[in-house]
This record gives sequence, structure tokens and C-alpha cells, in this order.
Amino acid sequence: MFIYAGGLLGFMLSVTMLTGFLYCRRKLYLERVLGLKVEVPPQQVLEGTIIHAAIEYTNVTERDLVCSIDKLETKEALEDKYKRWSMELLRKAILLNRREASELGLELLKLFRGLWPALEMHALDRAHNLFEFQSQTKLIGEGLWEALTPKIRAEVKVKAQKLGLVGVIDWLEKEGEEYTPHELKNATAPREGVWHDHMIQVAAYAMILSEAHGKVVGKGYVHYLKNGALRPVVVNAFLRDEVERLIRQVGDLVSGSQIPPYVENKKKCEKCPHKAICYDGEAIRKLLNEHQNI
Ligand code: SF4
Repeated sequence: MFIYAGGLLGFMLSVTMLTGFLYCRRKLYLERVLGLKVEVPPQQVLEGTIIHAAIEYTNVTERDLVCSIDKLETKEALEDKYKRWSMELLRKAILLNRREASELGLELLKLFRGLWPALEMHALDRAHNLFEFQSQTKLIGEGLWEALTPKIRAEVKVKAQKLGLVGVIDWLEKEGEEYTPHELKNATAPREGVWHDHMIQVAAYAMILSEAHGKVVGKGYVHYLKNGALRPVVVNAFLRDEVERLIRQVGDLVSGSQIPPYVENKKKCEKCPHKAICYDGEAIRKLLNEHQNI
């Protein structure tokens, strides 16, 4: 079994650090080692908080929704039930944050309209999952909920000690003892397959789940919200090797004192929040000195 960061370094790496390394290892070093902060616009922070709260509510209340289904439903009826339920949860999450929204001058209705598409897809996927299951089993009410597979949980925190990795899976599907990670991306799918960093992310989650549950997880999915594409990721031995290599590289980077070179693709620098400091030799020397004196 592969053992690296958790055992040797004494700390865990996050899955997002692996994808951050792929994007620009210098940026990862500036943030994770030298402590540069990324200023996230307050509206984006608030939107993230609201979506997170709405998804938490779905995890907690889906049982009640399914238990209330007292007859065999059509696909359209279930879509309607799930959409209404999700809308209500989003409304509740927005109302919970109305003071913050008003401080930012945001209209609640506009906020709702902007956030709804991400949750709608989530609601429809759950409705379709339930429809397929109910069509096969003819179950209703509590019996339907108890037997329902796969069950989906959103924003699930996961951890694998031996790999030394932690992360949060957007959706975790559980069918019997089988686990499948799903990532939701607010992006358009490539012509074929998935973008490379998304593949690494799904593979890393599959490996964490494999370690945590003692069973190989060989597949995951990426949902591309901008064009509604659902793409599978097969987590084979080559991909697992690549993730293990990345874990070693990221572990070396964050425990080392060497700042990595500039990224080759300079287009990334144009929109990078650290551009000014990154290209200022004096500022970088100062940060490195401060870090070495800690
Ligand atoms: S400015 Fe460019 S090289 Fe520097 S951290 Fe940002 S992306 Fe990386």
C-alpha cells in the first residue's frame, strides 16, 4: 500500500492541492507555504454559503420527501416534487442569509435566479434516480426510502490516512457497499472525456473511498453544468499511479524551501491574484526570509 504524506510528513494534503499543483505549482507554494491569501469577492462567498446550506438541507430532508410519496408517481410528477422541494430549500437558505445579501445590495429574487440552475440539476438527477427505482420496485413511503439505492449525499467530507489525503466530494452515491464519487463543475465539457484536472480530482476521491471502505472504487463521474454533460472517469492503475506521483510531488513542494519557477502558460498569470507579488523579486525574497525565520 502506498504511504506518503499522512505518514511521512505528519500532515494531510487536500485534493484541491493536487489540482492547484497542476494549475501552477508556484501559486500553490505562494498560498500554502508562504501564506498569501486569495481575496474571494464577498458575493461569491455569500453564494457559496447559500448553496452549501441548501445542499445541507437536501441531505437532511430528502428522507421526509421520499416517505411522503404514497403512490407510484410519473417521472414528471417526481421532477415537479423534487423541484418544488429544492426551490423551497434554496429560498430558506437565502432567507437565512438575507442580512448579508442586503449589506451587499443584492436583491433576493436575483440571487435566487442566479443560484437556481445549479440546484435544479441536482434536484432533477435525484428525481430521475427515484423514478427508476420506484418503477422497478413499486415501493412507496417509508419502504421506498429504506430500500432506495443508490442513495446520494452531497458535500461529503472524506479522509484517507495512508494516502494522506482529505477532501469534500460534491455527491457521493452509495449502492449497497459500492461508492461512486461525482463532481459538479460549473463549466462546459471538453469534446470528449473530462478535463485533466477533473479526472485527477475524481480519481483522488475514488482512491480515498477505496482506502476508507476497503474496496476498490473504479469509477466516478463529472457533471458539466454549463452544457448538461455527464462524463464517466474510469479509475484504472495508470490513473492511480498518476495521483500517487502527484501526492509525492505536492508533499515535496509544501515541505520544501524552494519556490517553484513561473508557470509556462503566461495566460494564467494575466488573471492571477498574486501576479504583482509573484513577479516582484524583492517581495518574494522577503516572504521567503520570513518563512525561513518561523
Ligand atoms: S503570477 Fe503566474 S507564475 Fe505567479 S503564481 Fe500566478 S499563475 Fe503562477
